[in-house]
Amino acid sequence: MSDTPSKSHGRKAIRPSLKPRALMEDEQLANVWTAQVITLFPDAFPGVLGQSLTGKALKDGLWQLDAIDLRPFGIGKHRNVDDTPAGGGAGMVLRADVVGAAIEAARQRAQTRLPLIYMSPRGKPFTQNMAKSLAAGPGATLLCGRFEGVDQRVLDHYGVVEASLGDYVLTGGEIAAQALLDATVRLIPGVLGNAQSTEEESHSNGLLEHPQYTKPADWEGHPIPEVLMSGHHGEIAKWRSKMSQELTQARRPDMWQALQNAKTVDKP
Ligand code: SAH
Repeated sequence: MSDTPSKSHGRKAIRPSLKPRALMEDEQLANVWTAQVITLFPDAFPGVLGQSLTGKALKDGLWQLDAIDLRPFGIGKHRNVDDTPAGGGAGMVLRADVVGAAIEAARQRAQTRLPLIYMSPRGKPFTQNMAKSLAAGPGATLLCGRFEGVDQRVLDHYGVVEASLGDYVLTGGEIAAQALLDATVRLIPGVLGNAQSTEEESHSNGLLEHPQYTKPADWEGHPIPEVLMSGHHGEIAKWRSKMSQELTQARRPDMWQALQNAKTVDKP
């Protein structure tokens, strides 16, 4: 584990530094959409976010990433960050004082107060709507747990929101944080350019997207649906909408029902 207290990525972000912890608090981040990630594994960032469109946007300074290493905030010579659970039981818990100090340092570095989110299987399931509202704000500070998680007092003290990637347990919050950031950052204006539309894709309008096809026109005896080759934009839109509805109804009756309920509310 390196002694580097933090790692920043993106053109406008401050450089990774070897400064001691006390000096770190003087550093300020640039005024663009900011992802702060408090983690024991800062080297896991930007990870996949450094690739493709999110990576280009990071390099271009459309957003910045501030990976904050939890280790230097640890206690004693060995910088211990965890201890055994009060009341007994298996595993280790991240200490409230250690996580609290990292949160304070993160807040000092940010230009403005960012929503603080703990990636957690107990959290509110992360959705496209959450991604949209985060993308419209100044950024987010994500806390990645490890072991059995984080001391409850730090979550209560800071009023931390818990967000879950899904109903399963990961080893740590880092993969969840990258998923949340990927879904969010691609909604920041300019990140996708004109290359992709976010309006018609799955989950943005309460529906799943229609099937997509490309060349060759015939593959292994399977042709592309005729309507898509017709050049008739009205018919194509109708077909896509129908497929989108059928797919949602079949695969996600919960989403379909929510849509029907919303329609009845609309019509008084
Ligand atoms: N003992 C905890 C699980 C800890 S898993 C429990 O039963 O609730 C270790 C860390 O991985 C967690 O602190 C959290 O940050 C992360 N994690 C695990 N599953 C996750 C999920 N579904 N979504 C988001 N983060 C998750």
